[in-house]
Amino acid sequence: MPVQTQIGLMSHEELVAEHERQSANYDRLKTEKLTLDLTRGKPSPEQLDLSAELLSLPGEGDYRDAAGTDCRNYGGLAGLPELRAIFAELLNIPVENLVAGNNASLEIMHDLIVASLLHGTVGSPRPWSQEPVVKFLCPAPGYDRHFAITESYGIEMIPVPLRDDGPDTRLIAELVAADPQIKGMWAVPTYSNPTGAVYSEDVARALVSMPAAAPDFRIFWDNAYAVHPLVEDCAPAIDILGLATAAGNPDRVFTLASTSKITFAGSGVSFFGASADNLAWYQKFLGIKTIGPDKINQLRHLRFFGDADGVRAHMAKHREILAPKFALVLRILEDRLGASKVASWTEPKGGYFISLDVVEGTAKRVIALAKDAGIALTGAGSAFPYKNDPDDKNIRLAPSFPSLDELATAMDGVATCVLLAATEKALA
Ligand code: PLP
Repeated sequence: MPVQTQIGLMSHEELVAEHERQSANYDRLKTEKLTLDLTRGKPSPEQLDLSAELLSLPGEGDYRDAAGTDCRNYGGLAGLPELRAIFAELLNIPVENLVAGNNASLEIMHDLIVASLLHGTVGSPRPWSQEPVVKFLCPAPGYDRHFAITESYGIEMIPVPLRDDGPDTRLIAELVAADPQIKGMWAVPTYSNPTGAVYSEDVARALVSMPAAAPDFRIFWDNAYAVHPLVEDCAPAIDILGLATAAGNPDRVFTLASTSKITFAGSGVSFFGASADNLAWYQKFLGIKTIGPDKINQLRHLRFFGDADGVRAHMAKHREILAPKFALVLRILEDRLGASKVASWTEPKGGYFISLDVVEGTAKRVIALAKDAGIALTGAGSAFPYKNDPDDKNIRLAPSFPSLDELATAMDGVATCVLLAATEKALA
């Protein structure tokens, strides 16, 4: 049941009555004995079914690409040129600057950091591990697994506010100009996880142009959602390597992407794009780690897509499944929480998440209440470095996996938890 008045404007009596109403709603919710999960941005089974054909591709007898490479054998560190060409077009990266790898782009990001720590990267005066301290800028809210990589290697994380058009570049410019220990920055430029922010070209240009005290400052430009709009028109991929080169900092950017949320999340193809010098550096240690990627999987993806338009057409099918789920979540949030003004949320035009901000100091409580009612939400603070949400207000919602019915039940339950926690706080 929606709240008629803003909670902040209620008299004490009204507040007590509202609290009782929400407690009763919550008790009812608990009797439903739900087991629903909104934690991770996984594709639903229906979405995975869109790529079912992959399971029988490339098919017996089809194992050579156009260059005649026998994909069954070792070799071909850079990945199949035809598949790279498709994603070069989609990601707006010259094909010679883009390599195709195995399943997970996260693994490449991890390896880039480890190699920088152990060997130093292009332009490093010494390996990062020999620095007294290494720091990374972390636009927040951001992707928890980015922060997990940097945290696990003892890299100090500095949060910077993320706005609708990207992070605060004035603050970043001040920080990177002054501190040579800032070696890197995480970025999700298109339909970011979890807010859906899309970096503007001005923000991108500022990031690749700003003077940096560290000669080996790197932006991890993780374009995981480059082709994942929820609306008809996709935000164009920014020519980030071209901008960096034009600004005189060709080596500043590491770009990443994958087909994880295009085909099979557990069996896709990852991509790494960078300057020629960066690619040569990467391939030096990649060639020690492996004799070549899974080219059969690359060939199967090539056969499945055909060309860049094939990927776009495939993403339109994902959109047909995902857009109603996002619309449902937004409608329930508005219906249940709009009037009471106890929460605000993003309305992403793409990607996999909605970022919900509840009353300050209540996110942990909302998540605990939801858990007790059988609704799993992403852990409190997980979109912030060190899981530290300074306002304890942010909750990441992942609508992709549950069915529409499950999602409606789960979101209605979440709204009840948000309202109950808000009235508890107002009465405290
Ligand atoms: N980058 C971002 C921003 C993500 O949200 C995700 C998955 O949720 C990934 C990377 C994971 O990519 P991959 O499956 O290629 O490792």
